[in-house]
Amino acid sequence: MAKLTKLDDIVSLCKRRGFIFQSSEIYGGLASCYDYGPLGVELKNNVKKAWWKSVVQMRDDVVGLDCSILMHPMVWKSSGHADKFADLIAECKKCNTRTRVDHLKDKEDNNIENASGQDLTNKVCPSCGTIGQFTEPMPFKLMFETQMGANIDDSMTIHLRPETAQGIFANFRNVLDSTRVKVPFGIAQIGKSFRNEVTTKAFIFRTREFEQAELEFFCEPGTDDQWYEHWKEARCKWYTDLGMKKENLRFRDHDPDELAHYAKGCVDVEYKFPFGSGDWQELEGIANRTDYDLRQHQRGMRTLNKWYENDRDLSKISLIDESEDYNKGPLSYFDEQKKERYIPYVIEPSAGMDRSTLAFLVDAYDEEEVRGETRNLLRFHPALAPTKVAIFPLVKKDGMPEIARKIYDNLKKYFNCFYDQKGAVGRRYRRQDEAGTPFCVTVDGQTNEDNTVTVRNRDSMEQTRINADNVLSYMREKLDM
Ligand code: ATP
Repeated sequence: MAKLTKLDDIVSLCKRRGFIFQSSEIYGGLASCYDYGPLGVELKNNVKKAWWKSVVQMRDDVVGLDCSILMHPMVWKSSGHADKFADLIAECKKCNTRTRVDHLKDKEDNNIENASGQDLTNKVCPSCGTIGQFTEPMPFKLMFETQMGANIDDSMTIHLRPETAQGIFANFRNVLDSTRVKVPFGIAQIGKSFRNEVTTKAFIFRTREFEQAELEFFCEPGTDDQWYEHWKEARCKWYTDLGMKKENLRFRDHDPDELAHYAKGCVDVEYKFPFGSGDWQELEGIANRTDYDLRQHQRGMRTLNKWYENDRDLSKISLIDESEDYNKGPLSYFDEQKKERYIPYVIEPSAGMDRSTLAFLVDAYDEEEVRGETRNLLRFHPALAPTKVAIFPLVKKDGMPEIARKIYDNLKKYFNCFYDQKGAVGRRYRRQDEAGTPFCVTVDGQTNEDNTVTVRNRDSMEQTRINADNVLSYMREKLDM
């Protein structure tokens, strides 16, 4: 029960302090869509920045990309999404609620996710509680469709991308030809994806519009197992380096029946989210996708004419088989040292930025009793904290606001800062605790005498006096920025 309260507390703190709002709230909201408020956008941007820094900036073997959300319809034919990207759903005969079959739980079981099995006789409708009264499972397509083009001649049905990865595969040749990358190397991208999800879950965990951070790491066949292990370790370390508690993270290998037919291996990085009875839920998937995607796009390229000939209707065509020498196709790679041509294997770590943001929020959330009062705080890692330093004059007189403003104007050139001169200083500290601000700097009566200010630490609440001229260097050291 305590865990449930925790998520409710987070949802209400997010609303109260401007982290996350329901989308279109003034019109009653839009299901499963959320907006990030002033603190939330800083937090999520910091999560994205930290991912980019670790996966692209700090590595010599990964380059970045930012692809269009709208792509050629054939992309989704080749990737398999057009035909197969669907969830199996069943409808409750009593209340007509549709639920993902793999999300139905057993009568005796509290596990919401990964409840495998197609026998629905023992399953409970999550909406009305009826047991075993379901229609036959049927596929429900997850891609959003829209129309593009104003003229009959060039208008066509296209899809909002359900993942960012395919834009990377579609640009594999462009990146090879325009840069000096050599296998092994990766291409990374952060961007919006869209899925018409059937079961929507707690808060921003599962939404219909979300942001993914994906890396496609291309390597020589035969070296893929090694790289798979490398990325498992690197990605798990990313979460713990940013302060996530080790005991809340684990790996879960996919069962053979969960594994996509082309994947050689897949593991989920799971986080212990405070949903229901305290569930382990996927934060990120890491897969060995073999050479499947590049080979599929080579087939797609060969099929393009058929698409034109069939009124640009994806449902009327199927992909042409691979050519005998597919290994030498347009999406192959020539290894100059070995004088060999092959289609690289791909290791794909695919993380949800909204899910990570939620996990960092949950993990950082804390409540403690201080002098008979409850202190709510977010113990964010400094790299993730939306505001790094808050600067206050103790009172609005005696020259204190002027000195505090000067410190603020200097610091804000380097990090996101906040200036506040309203209300009791204790209240101002509490507000910053709730926003997760690591440090507060207060200018007080003593500042005029000896040019020192108070630095208050969010986690320990300790106060230290330092010289006002040293605030910047002090913060740079403490924040490691
Ligand atoms: P699930 O089984 O939860 O539907 P998935 O296995 O289909 O997820 P992937 O296709 O592997 O998810 O996507 C990679 C990552 O993108 C996930 O680990 C998750 O963090 C994020 N993600 C996927 N779908 C959503 C969604 N609807 N809302 C928020 N994040 C999502």
